[in-house]
Amino acid sequence: MTEKPEKPETLATHAGRMSREHFGAVNTPVYRASTILCPDLQTLESNKAPYTYGRRGTPTSRSLEAAISELEGAARTALAPSGLGAIALALLSVCSAGDHVLVTDSAYLPTRHFCDRLLRRFGIETSYYPPTIGAGIGALMKANTRAVFCEAPGSLTFEMQDIPAIAAAAHAKGASVLMDNTWATPVFFRPLAHGVDLSIQAVTKYIGGHSDVMLGYVAANGGHADRLHHTHGDMGLYASGDDCFLALRGLRTLPTRLARHQETGLKLARWFQAQPEVARVLYPALESDPGHALWKRDFTGACGLFGVVLKPVSHGALAAMMDGLDHFGMGWSWGGFESLVVPAHIHRTAEPFAAEGPVIRIHAGLEDAGDLIADLEAGFQRLRTAS
Ligand SMILES: *Cc1c(COP(=O)(O)O)cnc(C)c1O
Repeated sequence: MTEKPEKPETLATHAGRMSREHFGAVNTPVYRASTILCPDLQTLESNKAPYTYGRRGTPTSRSLEAAISELEGAARTALAPSGLGAIALALLSVCSAGDHVLVTDSAYLPTRHFCDRLLRRFGIETSYYPPTIGAGIGALMKANTRAVFCEAPGSLTFEMQDIPAIAAAAHAKGASVLMDNTWATPVFFRPLAHGVDLSIQAVTKYIGGHSDVMLGYVAANGGHADRLHHTHGDMGLYASGDDCFLALRGLRTLPTRLARHQETGLKLARWFQAQPEVARVLYPALESDPGHALWKRDFTGACGLFGVVLKPVSHGALAAMMDGLDHFGMGWSWGGFESLVVPAHIHRTAEPFAAEGPVIRIHAGLEDAGDLIADLEAGFQRLRTAS
């Protein structure tokens, strides 16, 4: 036996496979099942059968969970029907009535809605903290602060967070640390190895990778595994065999796709930086980014998603640029093989985000980088003409 593989490329290729149980098929096939039959009464009553009921797992979902647990270095992984479902599951598995949670001001907007509407109805209070607070989070912790929720880089604004410092301060006061790690994926950042207790991923984005599946997961360390498992069971959460199969298939090529997304992302980001109409590019992989040092210290790569702050420009000129693009679709997602552009509608309550002009979000897909830049060049010509 050789050493257990550690590199994400090797893990993503081998983790979670059950070929021997499936006539040699390399990837675990789709199982669609509700009822699972038991051979005899003793097996049925022993509760020891590997599979008992569709909602509690099939070989397809177990393969995916096992692969993710290996990539994340997790004690357990629970699948949710979407990334937002995974965020809700993670928060509900640690919080109870009367608790307080601290959420980064840069969180994905639906995360805020879940906290401000649903958690609030159940007597859980949320306050928002500036994303770059670092160890300063300690001063915001109350006696009833049960969880600190992180997301780095932040949705739309891309601030890096000092995750180890936040985790140390939160743990010192007995709170759990949750992180939405959808941007980096476990290929570029392993939250549990940096002090996070529950690592959350919208599988919908890079793991699915083909814009055709909705799924999420929460990966837990040893101290949080049982609570996660029971909350997942009590909520009746379930992921279909077809969706798990697509996620598993996407996972196999995740590191390879990410390498290209990163390469093209950097090329596009540098092109944007050179345009006179651009005030700033929000991308921690750029040396000029305020979060670059933290990114370099903790992350091993960057995905293809970044923000561009334009100098003030009319809405008509922005529309002329965006509407005529051939290779950039306009849609509220990212992580698929295709390039995208959307306006970024930033929502803040703890600390305003000062932007010189409109902010757009770019997803660098797997198209040829030269073709993408030519498309953007033509777009900026339209923007100049319309201004
Ligand atoms: C898209 C997204 C989610 C939610 O994932 P869904 O599968 O769409 O529910 C969560 N966090 C981040 C950062 C996202 O971009």
